[in-house]
Amino acid sequence: SSTGRALQIDGLDVYYGRVHALRELSIHVDEGEIVALLGNNGAGKTTTLASVSGVVPARSGRIQAFGTDVTTAKPWEIVGAGVVHVPEGRRIFSRLTIHENLQLGGYLVKDEKVVDQRIEEVYERLPRLAERRTQQGGTLSGGEQQMLAVGRALVAGPRLLMLDEPSMGLAPLIVAQIMDLVQRINESGTSVLLVEQNARAALRIAHRAYVVENGEITLEGPAKELAADSRVIDAYLGA
Ligand code: ATP
Repeated sequence: SSTGRALQIDGLDVYYGRVHALRELSIHVDEGEIVALLGNNGAGKTTTLASVSGVVPARSGRIQAFGTDVTTAKPWEIVGAGVVHVPEGRRIFSRLTIHENLQLGGYLVKDEKVVDQRIEEVYERLPRLAERRTQQGGTLSGGEQQMLAVGRALVAGPRLLMLDEPSMGLAPLIVAQIMDLVQRINESGTSVLLVEQNARAALRIAHRAYVVENGEITLEGPAKELAADSRVIDAYLGA
């Protein structure tokens, strides 16, 4: 269906020892949407993605992906459900070639032909990676490494792509290219949950957004409305 929920998180509580990192957090992503999760350092954005990915356990609450309860699912089961995470800091393999990095994105895909076909689609989308397919990942610029990390996720065949701070450390022009890539991926049918400290860049492409502070959602709404909200402007869009 094209009208369902890609992701639904209800009342999620996560602790690290005694640190209460997420406090009854509820968010959703409809199929076809780009939803931004905005907030400062330490607000709980990465924890939200880690919890969906099955890396950090929920103390309470519920997570559903495409209608299936994945609250206690293992990371590979989450990928199997169509939810693919591009982690903060890209984590590409600098000694492996670009092609090998892309192949790793397909490690859970049984049919090698499907992997090869998806890699070719990534190369069509990102010709710069195609030109350099035999070079080591570590020779790429920061922006190209981010593109490679996104490309690797695409090889897993996501229905929901979760991106953790893809703009981090990149110049404004490169950030714009990354956001453009995310928008094009969304336009070809993939739902997106975009975690960003760069609220300006994220709100430009998002349909809706949430603001998280101290593990709690404090604001939510259409991206256009949040971009015009004085609280968002003061706290996240500064002059
Ligand atoms: P950042 O942009 O720095 O990643 P964030 O919004 O993603 O920020 P989280 O990384 O989710 O925030 O952190 C949420 C809270 O949980 C913070 O108070 C942080 O200090 C704490 N925290 C995160 N990871 C751990 C951990 N492994 N052990 C203990 N506390 C942690």
